[in-house]
Amino acid sequence: MMERSLVLIKPDGVQRALIGRILQRFEDAGIKPIGMKMVHVDKKFAAEHYFDVGQRRGEKVLEYNANFLSEGPVVALVLEGINCIESIRKMVGSTEPKAAAPGTIRGDFAHQSYAWCDSNDMVVRNLIHASSSTEDAQKEIALWFTPKEIHSYKNVHEMHTFGK
Ligand code: ADP
Repeated sequence: MMERSLVLIKPDGVQRALIGRILQRFEDAGIKPIGMKMVHVDKKFAAEHYFDVGQRRGEKVLEYNANFLSEGPVVALVLEGINCIESIRKMVGSTEPKAAAPGTIRGDFAHQSYAWCDSNDMVVRNLIHASSSTEDAQKEIALWFTPKEIHSYKNVHEMHTFGK
């Protein structure tokens, strides 16, 4: 099934000059960018994006994320591909960089642990967000992009990957 995912290169990824290298991994896998922009959101918008993190991870982690995501510009992407939500999450790796496998974005470009972050009162700086389900992807894409900012075009993947 063709799917869309909302991917964010978070402020640490932008400030560490990793935009190109992260995007390259998705393009290399035949996953197609159909929306892309640099945005500096405020804390309220960041908390809206992480609306369920308070319930799942606790209010402190929600607060960390709201502060972190609004600390500098992020690159927001809509990526399209065959069952790409799962593939992108695999390429991104585990939430805790220490546990993320080598070869994943978080495993290759970060190494922080939850324990370190907890004892230093800081958010896990893991470079990237990617939607975790089709339902989340729909909500997140609608939050970050207007329909006009999502584009339809053909690239080589129509022939070599998508089969159209
Ligand atoms: P993911 O980004 O892998 O989907 P979550 O949605 O569960 O993970 O969490 C959102 C973000 O909150 C994570 O990417 C990470 O930056 C941060 N985070 C999660 N757990 C912790 C924690 N225990 N301490 C600090 N930051 C955390």
